[in-house]
Amino acid sequence: MKAELLFDAQAALGEGPAWDAKSQTLYWVDILEKRIYAGSRVVAQLERFIGCLAPRRGGGLIAALSDGAGSSFFVDLQPDTARQSVLAAVHEPAANRFNDGKCDPAGRFLAGTMAMNESDPTGALYSFDGKRVVKLFGGATISNGLTWSPDYKTFYYIDTPTRKVQAFDYDLATGQVANPRAAIQIPASLGWADGMTSDAEGNLWIAMWGGAQVTRWNPQTGRLLEQIPVPALQTSSCAFGGKDMNELYVTSARKGMSASDLKKYPLSGGLFKVETKVAGLPAFEFAQTVPQAS
Ligand code: CA
Repeated sequence: MKAELLFDAQAALGEGPAWDAKSQTLYWVDILEKRIYAGSRVVAQLERFIGCLAPRRGGGLIAALSDGAGSSFFVDLQPDTARQSVLAAVHEPAANRFNDGKCDPAGRFLAGTMAMNESDPTGALYSFDGKRVVKLFGGATISNGLTWSPDYKTFYYIDTPTRKVQAFDYDLATGQVANPRAAIQIPASLGWADGMTSDAEGNLWIAMWGGAQVTRWNPQTGRLLEQIPVPALQTSSCAFGGKDMNELYVTSARKGMSASDLKKYPLSGGLFKVETKVAGLPAFEFAQTVPQAS
């Protein structure tokens, strides 16, 4: 498998790829440049940091925004006009901003936060069902990749500095997590685990910050299965898309790179695509309100 450059975006912090099946569009963000892309097109230039987004079932997007001065929100966002309406405010320390997030299979939007100094463990993971914001847990330093097993009963989560992927029991009816345990230990030689997605076989695909690669893991055994080189040092996140959900879209960043690293990896900040032999889980949409458990 090979990573093919789709767009030489030169993004400062390309992140949050999300496939919109309705329009067959890959949305992604540049957190630091406060920008939303659809493929190679900038569809919105915002005034706040955008941590992540997801398509909404009824059209448009849900996004997690922070102004870097104490205000964080979930908003409804229309990508072509950048028109925003606040859905919920999230109470976070002033030094925090939203980071990675995505929808669960029931249509909730989960998004994590981090301290902008990348060292205080003041981050948290939130779940929003359209009515209520629930804090699933706190104590995260850099809340990052999240995904589910194919039966949706297990939730996988990365707090990057821990060098671990944690597994939780996931209750799809209530959106609650329980029973955290370490599923994968990430060796330092691979870089830092950042964004994550999962495939139909239940294996995890993890973008490696500082590692110039995407890695594929079996979370049952903790074993590394495959390494796909990406010509961008700060490989930041990945998401499946395409008609058959067998295209892995990979974002990257230029943040935190030395002049010599930038010379060695000039495509850093680009958007890449890998054709895979396995399909990913479906891309989940924000459902506005989650059906109540019976
Ligand atoms: Ca990230």
